[in-house]
Order: sequence, then structure tokens, then C-alpha cells
Amino acid sequence: MHPFSINEEFLKTIQLKTYGVVVSKPSRNQHLCAMPKKDIYILAIESSCDDTSAAVLRNEVVLSNLVANQEIHEKFGGVVPELASRAHQQQIVPVVDQALKVAGVGKEDLDAIAFTRGPGLMGSLLVGVSFAKSLSIGLGIPLIDVNHMQAHILAHFIGGEDVVKPEFPFLCLTVSGGHTQIVKVNDYLSFELLGKTRDDAAGEAFDKTAKTIGFPYPGGPLIDKASKLGNSKKFRFTKPKIDGLDFSFSGLKTAVLYLVRDGLKENPNFIEDYRNGIAASVQATIVEILLDKIRKAIELNPDIKGIALAGGVSANSGLRSAFLEMGDQMGLPSFIPDFQYCTDNAAMIGIVGYRKYLSKEFADLSATASARLHIDI
Ligand code: ADP
Ligand code: MG
Repeated sequence: MHPFSINEEFLKTIQLKTYGVVVSKPSRNQHLCAMPKKDIYILAIESSCDDTSAAVLRNEVVLSNLVANQEIHEKFGGVVPELASRAHQQQIVPVVDQALKVAGVGKEDLDAIAFTRGPGLMGSLLVGVSFAKSLSIGLGIPLIDVNHMQAHILAHFIGGEDVVKPEFPFLCLTVSGGHTQIVKVNDYLSFELLGKTRDDAAGEAFDKTAKTIGFPYPGGPLIDKASKLGNSKKFRFTKPKIDGLDFSFSGLKTAVLYLVRDGLKENPNFIEDYRNGIAASVQATIVEILLDKIRKAIELNPDIKGIALAGGVSANSGLRSAFLEMGDQMGLPSFIPDFQYCTDNAAMIGIVGYRKYLSKEFADLSATASARLHIDI
């Protein structure tokens, strides 16, 4: 029988990205143990911002990972929280249904439901939390609450034995639309926050400067594309002087605003004439700010065995190449997750769910969404 009753017409209206089914080899433990280890099937739900996502994992292998983007926000130049929660409410049932179908897993096969508890937009989180709770009661299986920031980091542990994973401890630079953090990862569920942004996140710096030079939201990927056509030394922006491992990006946003304002006074076509140069110079400055701090963090933590990137901004081509080059120079293995696991997705929620399942860290039905959640909770 159908897992849920779905309006097929409505399903067609959702912009659904389906990531492929991965068929894994049996793990080494399964060959070695006389009694094969039972596989754990986790359904994961992510609804912290403007993407409704559901994934099914068998142990650490992703069987399906579906993301429904919400295009409604584009015309407002940013995410409108009220519209995001309404769209989650419409999308969550069909997205979960499709995730189960693509995985070929029946809901009766599930061992647990993992959901994003926070941080994120309260109205958006509430949809995922309430849905996960109801399904957990209905199926009589455990509920696992997941910290979205931990999930971005544990995206590095998705996949079977064919995937090379970081060794503990390692440093992770998490760069997304809402966060910029340097985290020391001591174990699967042990995190130490070493540095964070004091104002805008790196993704916000990309998106806000993109808006100033006329790109639609989210402008990060468009800055990346334009950078490839521009001279990164065309404009110089001063880097913020912040002690320790914290970041600041609001000064850069203002500097770009002033550059464009003054440029337009002299030349009404300033944006068209210099768009690629501005994009390339802004991107190079953001990458330099990020790498200066991660280099400092490496020096302060000589015990680390590798460095990792996480979050949506790790899709940036300039950052990816500079990060890998820095790892080589410093003699450290460097890791960047697959593109589909960089931006918000439920597979990363599922991998935390799996780790918490193994350590029996379950949530009870009084679990609540938390818009502000520290990395180590
Ligand atoms: P959040 O979890 O805060 O919603 P995500 O992890 O989904 O954020 O990342 C979204 C952010 O990543 C946006 O700010 C977007 O502009 C940025 N981004 C995505 N791709 C790129 C890219 N290629 N270059 C720069 N920024 C990018
Ligand atoms: Mg995110």
C-alpha cells in the first residue's frame, strides 16, 4: 500500500531534486561476525530553512536524498520565514513519500526517525519536528534530534568503506548562508567551537555583495561563475582585524556598497563594466579571510590529523581549490564533501541520526525545536 495518500498533481509542482540510489557493499564487520550485524534504516528530515529534504540511510550509506527547493523566496531577494514554513507544510509529506519510494524502503522497515532540531527558522523547524514526532508515534520507533551544524560536519562520514573519511581530531571550517565556524571535531559526537563570525556569515557576504551588483538571490553561485571571467586583483578590499579565530564580514559588504555607489557617480554603467572584476575581487577576499583563520587554527592545534570544509559555501570553486592547496602546503589531508551534501540536505541529518542511534541517544516526545542551538548540544 502507498505509504501516504499523495496528490500526484501537487507532486508535479514541486521542484524536486532526487539524488541517486547508492548500492553499498556489505561492511567488513558483516563478513567477520558470525552473526551478521542488523542493518539500521534511518529516515531523516531537514526543514531548518528554505529546503524541504528527506533521506533514507542504511547505516552510513544513503539510499535516497531528496531536496525540494522553495523558489518563492527568489522574488523577495531572501528567505521569507512565514512563506518557508507554509511551503514546508505542503511539501513534507510528498517529499518523505518519494524518499521512501526511491530508497525502496517501507516505513515498517525503519528503525528510527531523525529530524533537525535547530538552529534555523522556528516556523520551518516546527514543521519537521512535529512531522517526525507524529511518524515516530505512529510507527512506534525512536526519535532522534539532530543539530544542523553537527550534521554539516558529519556529512564527511556519509558513505561506505569506499569513501575516505577524516581521522579524529580534525578541524572543520563550516561556511553556510547562516553560519561561519571553525570547529575542532574530537569524535563523531564531540565538537569544540574555536571561532565564529561576529556579524554576517560567509554565505551572507556572498549573497549581499551579489545583490549589490545586481544578481538574484542566492547570489553566491553567480559570484562564483562571474569570478571566473574577472580579475581578482581589480579591486582591493581591506581585511578585518579580528583577534583570535573569529570572523567578520559586514565591513566587506559595506566596502562593496561604497565602491558601487561611488563608481556609479562617475560612470552610470559601472556595474555592467566591472561586475566580473568586483565578483572576482570579493570572492578572493572572502577566501583569504577564511583561509587566514583556518591556517591560524591549524597552528594552534598541532594534534589535528586533517582539515575539512562543510556547508553551502564549500561549493565555491575558488574556496575549494585554495583549501585543497593549503592542505597540501601544510602536509594535512583535506576533505570536501560531495556537492549534494554541502548545501542543506537530509542525508547529513541521517548520518548524525545513525551515530546517535549507535550510542542510543534518543529524543523523547517533549523534544522542541531550537532556533539557536550551540554546536556542542
Ligand atoms: P544555510 O544552512 O545557512 O541555509 P547552506 O548550507 O544551504 O546555508 O548554504 C547556502 C549558502 O551557500 C548561500 O549563501 C549560497 O549563496 C552559498 N553558496 C552556494 N553555492 C555557492 C558558491 N558556488 N559560491 C559561493 N557561495 C555559494
Ligand atoms: Mg545549512
